[in-house]
Parts: sequence; structure tokens; C-alpha cells
Amino acid sequence: MREPTIRNPALMIRCPRCGSVPGAWCFTPRGSRLPEGRVHRDRTAAHRNRRTV
Ligand SMILES: [Zn+2]
Repeated sequence: MREPTIRNPALMIRCPRCGSVPGAWCFTPRGSRLPEGRVHRDRTAAHRNRRTV
């Protein structure tokens, strides 16, 4: 069930959850980054749903 840690396609978009810019890992409301390879589910979902463009 684990996904590759480095190449995460969700990183190509801005995270709607924490506002992390494209290419940057997600971070918590406290300002610390999530462990590498982990992004918010919202970000993954947003990446999946961006068929519009
Ligand atoms: Zn995030």
C-alpha cells in the first residue's frame, strides 16, 4: 500500500490543505514539515481530480 517516497505526483500541485507550494512537502499547522514522502490526502485527491485543465 505504500507509495514511492520521492516521486509523488501530488507534489506538482499546491496543497489545498496546508498551502504548501508545488514541489514542496506538506507541513503541519505548527510549521513543521511532514515526513518526506507524505502529503495530505486532500492534496492527493486534488491532484487526482484536476482533470479540468
Ligand atoms: Zn498539505
